Order: sequence, then C-alpha cells, then structure tokens
Amino acid sequence: MPGHTHLFIPGPTNIPEQVRQAMNLPMEDMRSPRYPDLILPLFADVKKVFKNEAGRVFIYPSSGTGAWEAAMTNVLSPGDRVLMSRFGQFSHLWVDMAERLGFDVHCIDVDWGTGVPVELYAEQLAADTAHKIKAVFVTHNETATGVTSDVAAVRAALDACRHPALLFVDGVSSIGSIDFRQDEWGVDCAVSGSQKGFMLPAGLGFLSVSQKALAASKSARHMRCYFAFEDMIKANDTGYFPYTPPTQLLRGLRASLDLMFEEGLENIFARHHRLANGVRAAIRAWRLKLCATEPKWQSDTVSAIRVPEGTDAAKVIQHAYRAYNTSLGTGLSKVAGKVFRIGHLGALNEVMVLGALSAVELTLLDCGVAIEPGSGVGAAIEQFRSAATIATTKAA
Ligand SMILES: *Cc1c(COP(=O)(O)O)cnc(C)c1O
Repeated sequence: MPGHTHLFIPGPTNIPEQVRQAMNLPMEDMRSPRYPDLILPLFADVKKVFKNEAGRVFIYPSSGTGAWEAAMTNVLSPGDRVLMSRFGQFSHLWVDMAERLGFDVHCIDVDWGTGVPVELYAEQLAADTAHKIKAVFVTHNETATGVTSDVAAVRAALDACRHPALLFVDGVSSIGSIDFRQDEWGVDCAVSGSQKGFMLPAGLGFLSVSQKALAASKSARHMRCYFAFEDMIKANDTGYFPYTPPTQLLRGLRASLDLMFEEGLENIFARHHRLANGVRAAIRAWRLKLCATEPKWQSDTVSAIRVPEGTDAAKVIQHAYRAYNTSLGTGLSKVAGKVFRIGHLGALNEVMVLGALSAVELTLLDCGVAIEPGSGVGAAIEQFRSAATIATTKAA
C-alpha cells in the first residue's frame, strides 16, 4: 500500500529520524580507548531519566524482560517472600517469572482495569512485623489494560510501618514518558526497556538501582551469571561492558537521550498527558469505554478501549492493519477480543494522534460499530485546542 504504515502499538514505538540515522554507522571497536567517551555519559544520562542520582544504572543487551530477571536474581535470594499484584498481562508475566525463579510469591489478584491495591499492600506490610517480605513489586504502567499505579503511595505504605522491604518497579511503558522519581519515591530497582518511551528498537534493558539494592546484591544468593552486577560494575566503571554491547543501539540511545533532554522531561510528560486527553475525548465521543475502570487509573501512554458487546476486537485490529496500514495494539490474554489499544507514547504529536483516531473511526465503521464519523477526531481537536488555549493563556 502506498504511503506510510502507521504504528500505534505501545511498543515498539515510532523512532525519530535523528535516532534512526544515528544508528546507521559502521561497526565500531567496543574496546577502543575512545569508547568510554560514548559509554560513561550514557550511564550518567540514563540515570537522569530515572531521576536516580544516588544509585547506578545497568544497561543490558536484552529486552525489558531481561532487566526484570536481572533485578530479581541480583538482589534477592531463593525462597525470599515477595509481595506482588496482578491485573494485566505484564504484571502477570512478572509474577510468573518470580514463581519460576523460586521466590515465595504472595500475589494479590485484582480486577483487570484497576492497578496496584495500595490499601491491601499496606495491610500486608503492617501485618508482617517479622519482616518476612523482602520485596514489594509495582507494575507502574500496565500496558495490557492502560492502567497507571501510584508508586509514591506504595512507598508511603512501606514508610508508614517502617517496613524495610525493597521496592521493585516495572516502568517499561512509563519511564521517560510519564512522571517517575526513583530517589524521591525510594525505588530500589526500576526496570525499563529501549523500545517504548526511549524511542529505540528493542534490545536494551535498563535496570536502575538504589544504593540499598546494590548493598542487598552483595549478600543475595540467587544464581546469576550473564546479568551479574559485579561483572557489569567492573567493566562499566571504566566505560566498557563485560561482553559485546549492541554498539548501534548505544549510538541510538545517545541520540534519543539528546532529544529527550532537548524537549525536557517535564515537557515530555505534559505532551503525553495532552495527547492522552485527546484520545480519551475521542473515546467518550464514540461512547466507548476504557478498560481502566476509573479516571485515577487512566494511563497517559496507552489506552485500552473496550469494543461493544458482539464486536470482536481482534477483527477490528486485523481490519485496521489490512485496510488502512495501521497497527493498533491487540488485547492480551483475559482481554483478548474485548479491547484494542492505542499506544500514545514516544515520538508522537497531535497530528499523528488524529491520524490514529481517523484510522480507528474508519475501521470501527467498517466493522459495523455505530459511531458518528468524525466525532472522535472532532472531540480530540476540541481537546487539543482547549489545551493550547490554556497553555497560551498561562504563558501570557
Ligand atoms: C513491554 C513491557 C514489558 C516487556 O518488555 P520486553 O521488552 O518485551 O521484554 C514489561 N513490562 C511492561 C509494563 C511492558 O510494557
């Protein structure tokens, strides 16, 4: 089909042209004396995105899932009790990994469309006076359902009962796109990946850790090798890696970080909020419902949209792809066939969002869903214009 293909899945996201160009270079020598000139600033700058001044960051040649494993195997010991919750495919997979790695997983299941049950966490922590729970897990942004959880509230729950458990956060689809403050929120292990807010191909797993996590890793006894902190630290401190790093991705990372700092993290968060509000205005105009059950759960990086009873969301997604060259996110696991997702994170602007909404309107109409043509696009335009007015008034 002529023209662009349109990618509106919540990862991999669209790659800015500058970043793609930066990765188009010949192979380079990762043991050259000049390689640290690239690598050392990368570590310092990735830490800025996590707002982690006190700790350090690991960059693994893996997807986000590898960084999940790195966090658990470096910092915990087999049989350690961990407190987790499950409300979507990604939180489910993290629980599954924890079980397979031999931790004593205490998992709270809550409805898909809600997020981390902070009150239940608080109860469990307060009751655990013997401090058997070694770590508490938060999936910050559940990408399968478009739900954002309150990391700061979990920190507050830990502090309220002076519980020493480590705090682990999956920020794969949030960090670099929506507000995240590792130091301030006392997050010990924060995980992300390259192919979402960092606007790169998949292949870099980020693990940003606190001093407390580094200290815990010294006595932790889980088996680890490829992801071992001690090997990484030894090489990373001099600007190298213990094995061959993906040199092109690291050049791309340099370019994406430059773009992120040029825009400014707070401006990036504001843009994601504005774009998400446009998408949500369209959903209201179509009289459809988000998977997120309450406004407080709504994610600024991805919207999971319920199709009406009798419509198969998988067919909607297929039709958008075949007829309009447009990729929407699929419904995963429990919500398969029930939702389609619009990823609105990374290198994205108003016009791209309006394009996504147009494709959704064409597709829904083709699939027999009774929406008013232009209603969602119109509502998003109104939303963007009112946001712009507020911004201009504020500026003036
Ligand atoms: C994408 C994603 C992952 C998994 O990342 P991979 O890079 O595919 O391994 C984990 N958690 C969340 C919340 C995600 O969105």
